[in-house]
Amino acid sequence: EPVLKLSGIAKAYNRGTPGEIEVLRGAELEVGPGEVVALVAPSGAGKSTLLHIAGLLDTADAGLVEINGHDMSGRSDRRRTLVRRDDVGFIYQFHHLLPEFSALENIVLPQLANGVSRKVAEARALDLLDQVGIAARASHRPAALSGGEQQRVAFCRALANEPRLLLADEPTGNLDPATSDQVFAALMALVRNTGLSAVIATHNLELAARMDRQVRLDQGRLVPLEPTIP
Ligand code: ADP
Ligand code: ADP
Repeated sequence: EPVLKLSGIAKAYNRGTPGEIEVLRGAELEVGPGEVVALVAPSGAGKSTLLHIAGLLDTADAGLVEINGHDMSGRSDRRRTLVRRDDVGFIYQFHHLLPEFSALENIVLPQLANGVSRKVAEARALDLLDQVGIAARASHRPAALSGGEQQRVAFCRALANEPRLLLADEPTGNLDPATSDQVFAALMALVRNTGLSAVIATHNLELAARMDRQVRLDQGRLVPLEPTIP
């Protein structure tokens, strides 16, 4: 059973006004357990819109969003919020960490909010930081970390509550190419260790080629992209 299934997703902004912009026109996507899919498209093509709809942060005008086999389309805001909190992890281009808290605490807090004990939450946070190679930075605040380290902390935070699905929007997009490469490798290792499913938007074709499968957002639809042999 797919972890994420999108069928016939349509979305327009400013519908019925002169500023109407049709972003998605029947997008289809199935992501299986443990599968990592690259979402490739130029800026403005609708990647963020698609990820927000898939992660229940926004609603589609038409189509079905199924998470773990459950159709989320007609559900209440409360139900959607619960599914988002329990089953979906988000990573953005910028880390959005809480500046007044340590790296560790940024990963502990979402777990406490979910009813996990402090002891268990801290152990899990340290284990996650260790998996991305920055356990030694646990007590630092975000401002004391490099850009790459900040993103690694954000990856750990996204996985803190053990989601089944990870949605990442240009996760290394604000890093220089060399750092981006290392940080992306850390993200992939974390995803593989955890066995979770992921959709990772990037316009970096080299990074996209390291995922299981690539789809391109073209004229509001998702089309498979054949791997290019270098
Ligand atoms: P991407 O993530 O691929 O850069 P987006 O999904 O952010 O693309 O945006 C797709 C298109 O929709 C762009 O033309 C953008 O300007 C427009 N857009 C995004 N959000 C809104 C919004 N809230 N209102 C109006 N237009 C929007
Ligand atoms: P990002 O994916 O980089 O976080 P945003 O979601 O902030 O980008 O915006 C993506 C695009 O959508 C930008 O071109 C932005 O100008 C446009 N956009 C976002 N929100 C709105 C809005 N409320 N009205 C019009 N355009 C918007």
